[in-house]
Amino acid sequence: MTVINEKFSVNTKGNTDIIDITQKVKNAVYMHSLQNAVVHVYVAGSTVSVTNIEFEPGLLVDLPEALDRIAPTDTDYHHDATWHDGNGYAHVRASIVGNSTMVPLIDGALQLGQWQQIVLVDFDNKSRTRTVYVQIVY
Ligand code: ZN
Repeated sequence: MTVINEKFSVNTKGNTDIIDITQKVKNAVYMHSLQNAVVHVYVAGSTVSVTNIEFEPGLLVDLPEALDRIAPTDTDYHHDATWHDGNGYAHVRASIVGNSTMVPLIDGALQLGQWQQIVLVDFDNKSRTRTVYVQIVY
């Protein structure tokens, strides 16, 4: 088994900023000219997620609206009572959505659906620079 580690940075605006990172992931994988591998995409941090979406204007509103119903910004969180950083909602959203995704590389191609993009979603209440790790295992 061989492991290749790649990473890249993403600047975000915070506040449920949804950023398409599909091309950056493809670049990190395709530069190695592999045929078959397991590709893990992971973001470090407890107020940020990596997931999949159809990156189109409707869903870029629908996903934040759905998360606002589940973990609204305008309610009380025990986290905020303890840390006073006002981002309890961001931690809860990140836990629910998760911070990694896996894409199989088969016959040299990442197996993403035609309308499926990989996105980073930054829930924090301020702009951040995030590090995305792409770990390729074959
Ligand atoms: Zn916090």
